[in-house]
Amino acid sequence: MQEIISKGKCRICNKEFSQSRIRKHILSCNKDNGKEKVFLIKAEAGPFWVYFEIEAKKNLKQLDQFLRNLWLECCGHLSAFTINNQRYSIYEQELDYDEKSMNVKLKEILKPNLKFNYEYDFGTTTELNLECLKEKDGNKGINLIARNEPIDFKCKKCTARAEEVCVQCIWDGKGFVCKRCSKQHKCVEPYFLPIVNSPRIGMF
Ligand SMILES: [Zn+2]
Ligand SMILES: [Zn+2]
Ligand SMILES: [Zn+2]
Ligand SMILES: [Zn+2]
Repeated sequence: MQEIISKGKCRICNKEFSQSRIRKHILSCNKDNGKEKVFLIKAEAGPFWVYFEIEAKKNLKQLDQFLRNLWLECCGHLSAFTINNQRYSIYEQELDYDEKSMNVKLKEILKPNLKFNYEYDFGTTTELNLECLKEKDGNKGINLIARNEPIDFKCKKCTARAEEVCVQCIWDGKGFVCKRCSKQHKCVEPYFLPIVNSPRIGMF
């Protein structure tokens, strides 16, 4: 993909930060502010990132659903978390011998400074890096603290704003095109998808 610097606003103080600086900021800006025990979590894939708080009594299935709604859902693919070398699968009916179900509470498996992984779709996999940043008092449910603003991808031919991406060419950086240039785009099997603000960009 293109080399990209993404940025986004901290929703607590409304100030804008680059991807590399917002982590430190949120750790200091985000104080105790409610009655529930919550985890502050970061999820990231390349230039796409999100910080959110989630009640510790929620389970992995609810975290999975949140990530799907925010970013990933395209057609109901399978997904799995890997936490402390343990795999937790969404596919409860047929767990492998070494897998567990996502029906487990976050407070039983997460703790501050723990990094873990998530995969969506085992065919064209989108992988997220997650990190439990801290445990604090916060509000009910799942609350967004910050996420990257839509990224301004440029057309590889004319540098206008890209509006589509060719699924075949996204990985060598030539896939991003504006409407006009997309008509002249040549590759073995052109297939265009709209630009979305999600690590699922260019996949289906
Ligand atoms: Zn802030
Ligand atoms: Zn163009
Ligand atoms: Zn192409
Ligand atoms: Zn799909």
